[in-house]
Amino acid sequence: MRLSHRELHYLLALCLSLETVLKLLVFYYSCKMKTYPEDLPTLSVVLIFMNEALSIILRAITSIINRTPAHLLKEIILVDDYNDLKEPLETHIKNYNAKHPELLKIIRHQKRQGLTQARISGWEASAADVVAILDAHIEVNMAWAEPILSRLKEDRTVIISPVFDNIRFDDFELLQYSVAADGFDWALWCLYEPLPAEWYTLKDETAPVRSPSIMGIIAADRKFLGEIGVLDSGMHIYGGENVELGLRAWQCGGKVEVLPCSRIAHLERAHKPYLPDLSIAVKRNALRVAEVWMDEYKYMVYFAWNLPIENPGIDFGDVSSRKDLRKKLNCKGFDWYIKNIYPNLIFLPNIVGYGTMKNTLKEDICIDQGPVPGNTPIMYPCHAYSPQHIFYHSTGEMYVGGLHGRQNAGDRCLADPGNGDLPVLEKCDIAMNKGLNLHWDFKQGSAVINRGTKRCLEVTADNPVSYRLVMQTCTGQRWNIQHTVKDWGKAKDLEQKAQH
Ligand code: UDP
Ligand code: MN
Repeated sequence: MRLSHRELHYLLALCLSLETVLKLLVFYYSCKMKTYPEDLPTLSVVLIFMNEALSIILRAITSIINRTPAHLLKEIILVDDYNDLKEPLETHIKNYNAKHPELLKIIRHQKRQGLTQARISGWEASAADVVAILDAHIEVNMAWAEPILSRLKEDRTVIISPVFDNIRFDDFELLQYSVAADGFDWALWCLYEPLPAEWYTLKDETAPVRSPSIMGIIAADRKFLGEIGVLDSGMHIYGGENVELGLRAWQCGGKVEVLPCSRIAHLERAHKPYLPDLSIAVKRNALRVAEVWMDEYKYMVYFAWNLPIENPGIDFGDVSSRKDLRKKLNCKGFDWYIKNIYPNLIFLPNIVGYGTMKNTLKEDICIDQGPVPGNTPIMYPCHAYSPQHIFYHSTGEMYVGGLHGRQNAGDRCLADPGNGDLPVLEKCDIAMNKGLNLHWDFKQGSAVINRGTKRCLEVTADNPVSYRLVMQTCTGQRWNIQHTVKDWGKAKDLEQKAQH
């Protein structure tokens, strides 16, 4: 039989789509096909909650009982970080324990202590070989525990994260998330990172994913977690504890991994009722992490939060016991960590000025990244949130609109297109490759002059109230940036330069 061109083409397309379907099936079944040893370590599950609906907590408990091998599930420990659910919950616990003797325990905080302390309380009360510390608004999926227990049987030094799926809070629909590694930006907000190249070379969808950090929900060898210091009890309310654990695990001889076959569906709250402004706790906790674990890289955290390095005006509490712990465990430095574990996080060693930027002609408006999507920076009433954060590098780049400092994260650089009267923002790596004019001469209180075009970044008043940010022939306008690093741009620095 001879096939025409067209028939060949169809046949090829059919084969290709069959291959795709096959690949998906392999992916779907590879976790299901996996077998695990019988004699796995035992498991304590900790569920922490604060002002959570009873039905949500029962949903979590039921899924854990139904989907964890009974001979491995030693206990479920509920940690109540101060709720109003006293009686109904007690009744349910009694009912569960009537069927499963001594399975459920509850610890009640007499006042709210925050999520880190809630997780620590759960760990302290646990007694099995392995502890999984989860939010109470979750539902575990089939065979969620076996991958964790068998991985920890192989290697007790791994801190494990399952893969989260999302239960939509408004209609409870389950959205499956793809597998990713857990990372963070320089503000220490957690985020997903692409899977590492080395993982793909294994050609095994079930293989553990080496991860720079952890999102929050964890499973670990109970004793090992204790040996490396559980969690930092000096954290307040929310945030920071996850990155602290990630750094500590890696720097002090452990590892962090995401396990593709362990899936937990997580119901993200529509609103977090913990503090009117949660970022206050997150920022403070981030500074603790920076102080203890990040050595000379810690300034990046101050830059990302737009805080002055000296006297930031934030009391992050006593970190001496955490520093002692770091010494006692003989932990490696952040330099080792960033080079070996998180090369995707980019250190920017040349930042010399940062924060909002104002023209001396009118000081209640600031440079702002302008509408998004869009790439035209503007002048806008100062609010000092991240769209108005500028980072000036001694090498001449000027980042506008926050600092991510991650590979492919898209930090944007100010550039002069060389024609027209508007400056533009371009992704810094692209601007670099395209050879755009993205280098600027600037000193505190002086002009901002493009090195390529020699034009100045200035403001022009279309009318007395409306100022535009423009590129034009320099008229001698002067700019100030909110914070400077050490003495950069200050008179002393200029004098020293003049003497040399
Ligand atoms: N949590 C707590 N005390 C607090 C704040 C939070 O016990 O003061 C618990 C909360 O009930 C949840 C976990 O910490 O189980 C994580 O908080 P959340 O789910 O709001 O954060 P996300 O999962 O979105 O990171
Ligand atoms: Mn949660």
